Amino acid sequence: INSEVCHIDDILSDLIELITKSLTRNIQIVLEISKDLWPVLIDRGDFEDVMINLAINARDAMDGQGTLTIGATNVSLDTDDSLIVRNRQPGDYICISVKDTGSGIPKELQEKIFDPFFTTKEKGKGTGLGLSMVYGFAKRSSGFLEVESHENIGTTFCLWLPRSETVS
Ligand code: ADP
Ligand code: MG
Repeated sequence: INSEVCHIDDILSDLIELITKSLTRNIQIVLEISKDLWPVLIDRGDFEDVMINLAINARDAMDGQGTLTIGATNVSLDTDDSLIVRNRQPGDYICISVKDTGSGIPKELQEKIFDPFFTTKEKGKGTGLGLSMVYGFAKRSSGFLEVESHENIGTTFCLWLPRSETVS
């Protein structure tokens, strides 16, 4: 693995042009990137693939129009944080979110979407490998991935990455 200490805000500003190009004209893009994000130890190329995959899934879910919101913020989870019941280590993280105003994901499918080859797209349009790649990236980076989705309202994926101990 080619992990290095990365500054997510720099990577995201480099990626926005590519992401915008991959959307359709009636999809707005909104950025909510905090200043002074903590550094993270990740494989930069893999992270770029993750963001492009999440953005393309969001585009596909919006059927030509809507809003894609990309956020990034520092979060400290303390021991009595409710997230800990889901086996999350307390500590400092950055949380990167990709939110769409698309179709949403039915409850009964939400546990299947991370499985390799699971897709609801027609033949030739989806491989079903995007989210399993995103999930693998989160694990390898000692982070985690969450999804919140409501049918006909939209979906938010949150990628949590631990703050790097080393600085650069
Ligand atoms: P693919 O995009 O090739 O279908 P993914 O692993 O990227 O494979 O996604 C798996 C499935 O999860 C999709 O086919 C779709 O049903 C669902 N999905 C993923 N992202 C979204 C989203 N933002 N909104 C609605 N459904 C989604
Ligand atoms: Mg996909």
